[in-house]
Amino acid sequence: MNNRNRTLQIKSREIIILLVLSVVSSLIIGCAALQEAQQKREKRMQEKRQGKHFLLSASKSTINVDPTPVDDKPHGESDHYTLKFADDLMALDDYDEALEREVFAKSALVYMESLYDSMHNIFGFKPKHKIHVTLYQLFRGSNRHAITGTQYRYGNNIKFVTGIEMHFPMDMYEKHEVRVHELTHAFTNIYFLPTWFNEGVAVLMQKEYAKGGMFTKFDNLELHLKKDLNGMNELENWDGHGAGGPLTQWRYAYAYSVVSELREKYGNQLYIKVFELMERDQLHQKLIGAMPTSFLVYYMSQAAGKDLVPFFQNLKFNVRKLEKTDILEYIRQLNVQNTGGH
Ligand SMILES: [Zn+2]
Repeated sequence: MNNRNRTLQIKSREIIILLVLSVVSSLIIGCAALQEAQQKREKRMQEKRQGKHFLLSASKSTINVDPTPVDDKPHGESDHYTLKFADDLMALDDYDEALEREVFAKSALVYMESLYDSMHNIFGFKPKHKIHVTLYQLFRGSNRHAITGTQYRYGNNIKFVTGIEMHFPMDMYEKHEVRVHELTHAFTNIYFLPTWFNEGVAVLMQKEYAKGGMFTKFDNLELHLKKDLNGMNELENWDGHGAGGPLTQWRYAYAYSVVSELREKYGNQLYIKVFELMERDQLHQKLIGAMPTSFLVYYMSQAAGKDLVPFFQNLKFNVRKLEKTDILEYIRQLNVQNTGGH
């Protein structure tokens, strides 16, 4: 119960309504003044994208809520999301009444839309599909793990994203930083990135933009390196599974530290540029499996304006310097159909 109070609290705490007043002064006449105004606008946009934290503004999204939907329909829908309450959550006192669900769903979608806009401003791109969010009391028996999954199909040598799902136990949904972490995945998963980089960027957003997360940032990457039996960086073995194992904390912290260090060296726009370059080439769609780190470093080096292979080799990543022809040849080779029977 008392849900209304809680959602109002969430609103007032987390939603900073930014009123942007466009004042067109009659004094601004002539080319020079217009140019200056244009430059100022661009600077504002730059600042918005390079900001150290999120500035959430009220979203213009349409929001429809139905607290008692039929036929497995969602409880709420907005421009970029659908929202569902799982059965175990609806059995709880706080969500068992239609009005409680209505108030919560509306508030949650308003907030998530604002977060979406903010993330879109930072990344400069957005996923094409709606994000289907389900809230639980316990997800897979736990109140500790939130998951974002991007489904895709592979056909005619191309990967297509077919849907994005987010699953939150309520204890995790209530943490702003976790929502930021998961929404980062919803945005960047469309590039099928190596797991370590995917998680590194998500923790970066969680820690440096949303100011949350208990992850350590290692100042000395060489000192904290863990190697596997082949002498390679243990991060390369991270396939996204095995959460909770003894290496988990180290993996998140180390991946984040690598991503953060490179961003400090080459600027806030480094990863934005990486995604822009990938988007332009569309080669990530043509890989069958996960993206190899060498492929990522090929784009990172272009974005940084410096060959980053030595940096990654020094940290025992399994990388070598690639040209685009190497990537195209790799893709061609993967796509050759074996005609031999077995
Ligand atoms: Zn994650």
